[in-house]
Amino acid sequence: MSNSITMAEAPPGQAGPGFFATRLDAVVGLARKNSIWPLPFATSCCGIEFMSTMSSHYDLARFGSERLSFTPRQSDLLMVMGTIAKKMGPVLRQVYEQMAEPKWVIAVGACASSGGIFDTYSVLQGIDRIIPVDVYVPGCPPRPEQIIEGVMRIQDLISNESLRRRHSEEYKELMAKYMVK
Ligand code: SF4
Repeated sequence: MSNSITMAEAPPGQAGPGFFATRLDAVVGLARKNSIWPLPFATSCCGIEFMSTMSSHYDLARFGSERLSFTPRQSDLLMVMGTIAKKMGPVLRQVYEQMAEPKWVIAVGACASSGGIFDTYSVLQGIDRIIPVDVYVPGCPPRPEQIIEGVMRIQDLISNESLRRRHSEEYKELMAKYMVK
């Protein structure tokens, strides 16, 4: 087993003897993207794939995301995995609303993204009908590699997000569209 530890890459900036200057956004983004606390909202089979993603073989901890949170107030990445019945919609929405900003959402698998094969009266045809989604992971179920890819795309979004975004008119409009307080 290798003992080598890979350091996170520093953001672009100006280096000199004894100093390094960069943008505040970039430093905050670097810290946030490597310390995501996911909340797994797993209702069915895709949740089993997530268990595998957390196991030693795939090891999501490599991305700084080993600390799962089962309380919305202490998590910043909502991972929705599985079929979401319409009856469960208000619960999912409440969980989302209880998460503090900044927060991100991944729809893992066909069911969370679009209802999947369950084109029926009782199944929500995609969680983006009730909460905003940042990344969609395709598949039924997606393999753990795909879930990891989804987390890495979230990391890209986090590291490039402006600190002002959550206060912007565009973001307020998005929340208003979903009637999120
Ligand atoms: S996408 Fe497929 S594997 Fe995932 S919850 Fe739906 S039916 Fe199950």
